[in-house]
Amino acid sequence: MATPDILVSEVGPRDGLQSIARSMSTGAKHRWIRALAAAGLREIEVASFVPPRLLPQMADAAAVVAEALRIPGLTVLALVPNLHGARAAVAAGAHKLTLPVSASRAHSERNLRKSPEEAVEEVRRVLALRDQSPRAFGVEVGISTAFGCTLEGRVDEDHVRRLAVALAEAGVDSVGLSDTTGYANPAQVRRMFRHLIADLGERAGGAHLHNTRGQGLANVVAALEAGVTTFDASLGGLGGCPYAPGASGNIVTEDLVFLLESMGLDTGVDLAALLAARDVVRGALPDEPLYGHLSDAGLPRGFRYARERAGRPAPARPHPAGRDA
Ligand code: ZN
Repeated sequence: MATPDILVSEVGPRDGLQSIARSMSTGAKHRWIRALAAAGLREIEVASFVPPRLLPQMADAAAVVAEALRIPGLTVLALVPNLHGARAAVAAGAHKLTLPVSASRAHSERNLRKSPEEAVEEVRRVLALRDQSPRAFGVEVGISTAFGCTLEGRVDEDHVRRLAVALAEAGVDSVGLSDTTGYANPAQVRRMFRHLIADLGERAGGAHLHNTRGQGLANVVAALEAGVTTFDASLGGLGGCPYAPGASGNIVTEDLVFLLESMGLDTGVDLAALLAARDVVRGALPDEPLYGHLSDAGLPRGFRYARERAGRPAPARPHPAGRDA
């Protein structure tokens, strides 16, 4: 089977759940993650290894990782804020760890209770753990507030660039850029990812975009133009934004996959199965709003997956019915 053109990395079970007050049961998380993997998602950020007193939604992180590891072919990602979390995630068996390092000093101090310099030192400690570990695992960093910050406003682009280079030189496998609170615009996204790819080459990571102000998919297209091939997204845009009522959180996985496939970029994902996975979330969290356009409008008549257009085997499942308006 050909490798898809774009890796869609699902972050709903981590980013989505940590942004809402309600907890999802461990069993529902398992069902959700299985449904996502069955739809063809190959990488899922399943949990965050943070102290349960800070995020009770993530108290079952080790159990969620253990269950996700049973899904064949799935890369199991865990967010870790520090070395302590990294040890726990490695003990649980996560394939890859992702650490947030904030470009904004104020955001770093509030979120991680560390200066950006201390956050980079913490990454170095996790890299040392990786280098001593008998079991191989990946270490990624997402530079949060890379495009702007609710506390500081503008974030200096050259500062982000230097931070990314420092992290790659320290030995981080890939460094991505995160629009944590929906500040990015397409011109900025294109420019900053071009710089990232020029500076880091193979260590340039993916785009973590939020749709807080409706720029999410426009920013995806800009990142594609810069050469980005990995995108984070959340099923139903779960999580919303506490500062902007009615605004979705992460870009919506279903809409992202539809955009990419319509543009002729293979994701390996089946949209009918992905849309069906929304039912698992709706059943477990009936009061949480789920976002997305494809779920309302359905697939347009005549839609073909990129792999179908390229003459590769079509997905086994039928397309969901779409309206023709
Ligand atoms: Zn996020």
